[in-house]
Amino acid sequence: MPTALRICPLCEATCGLTLTIEGSRVTGARGDREDVFSQGFICPKGAALPEVDADPDRLRGPLVRKDGRLQEATWEEAFDTIAARIRPLIEEYGPDAVGIVLGNPNVHTMAGALYPPLLIGALRTRNLFTASTIDQMPKHVSSGLLFGDPFAIPVPDLDRTDHLLILGANPLDSNGSLCTAPDFPGRLKALRRRGGTLTVVDPRRTRTARLADRHVAIRPGADALLLAALVHTLFEEDLTDLGPLAAQVEGVEEVREAVRDFRPEAVAEACDVDADTIRVLARELAAAPTAAVYGRMGSSTVAHGTLGNWLVDVLNILTGNLDRAGGALFPLSATAPAPRPAGPGRGFALGRRHSRVSHHPEVKGELPMVALAEEIETPGEGRIRALVT
Ligand code: SF4
Repeated sequence: MPTALRICPLCEATCGLTLTIEGSRVTGARGDREDVFSQGFICPKGAALPEVDADPDRLRGPLVRKDGRLQEATWEEAFDTIAARIRPLIEEYGPDAVGIVLGNPNVHTMAGALYPPLLIGALRTRNLFTASTIDQMPKHVSSGLLFGDPFAIPVPDLDRTDHLLILGANPLDSNGSLCTAPDFPGRLKALRRRGGTLTVVDPRRTRTARLADRHVAIRPGADALLLAALVHTLFEEDLTDLGPLAAQVEGVEEVREAVRDFRPEAVAEACDVDADTIRVLARELAAAPTAAVYGRMGSSTVAHGTLGNWLVDVLNILTGNLDRAGGALFPLSATAPAPRPAGPGRGFALGRRHSRVSHHPEVKGELPMVALAEEIETPGEGRIRALVT
């Protein structure tokens, strides 16, 4: 039976797959043992790709609305319809009349990463929305403000770290995000097998929390308070050690001042975590030969998500774990330019313009997805009249 090597597009772990092909159908999917990254790992979602392929509801070709009903069409017809209808809209209402929405899988494939920028550039619309504003924009903002590049997102060095502190993530179920790691669960188990420690901060006793050495059941939405108290404790007990980072880091004294009031006792009730536990978390982080703090969706989609995400990397910096083996590393993308070298530049800015209806600030040229519906529905100049997704 013919086989084809492909990358699973269903999450950012991008596992290598060996697909079995019968005619034009995918009839089997297994992990590709030769894949240098995933080494044969596959999760149930990837294994179900043949069922997705065979799903009768799957879109197999273009549909064009005719007489009020979506009808099958050829690609030529579909492209002709798009060209015939979008151009007059742009000519009459300007480029912002076309909105673009990019979903998650765009960052799971090379084509998805390479071509949307060309389309966005050609349409010249500023009405751009992506999945980033659903779950991860706080990380982009904190990375932009900390490192000058919103895509310079440090990821935990899972395979070498001695101590991993996870907040608001459940990689045993989700396989993680903003941290491309096929078999994330296996890597966490390997961490524990080699004597490392895993601490999970999560209101729920998730599968990842059950695997951990320590589960801290924090009150939902209190991550930033807990993290501020950890930073406070590092300063209070003289546990900071920036190592070689010290030469490059500015503002440490300002951070010390900013968290002065965030004593563990002051936040314990709001976090529903006792002060002794908070101090132990800080001491363990500082004492580990290498450590990484990793905060994800649960720590982003809360009121103080940007602050929490910033504090995650403040902890990585203050313990000397940023950009070192076993700590939190800056990955290099296969398709995007490498992070800018240190030195004067344009820096990072946000809020250079605002959404039309509710005045949400842009970040990375994007408006928040929460504004999309009102930008379509609210009449007036700049209204979105066509959507590409
Ligand atoms: S973890 Fe599962 S869904 Fe994600 S890329 Fe691998 S096989 Fe696909």
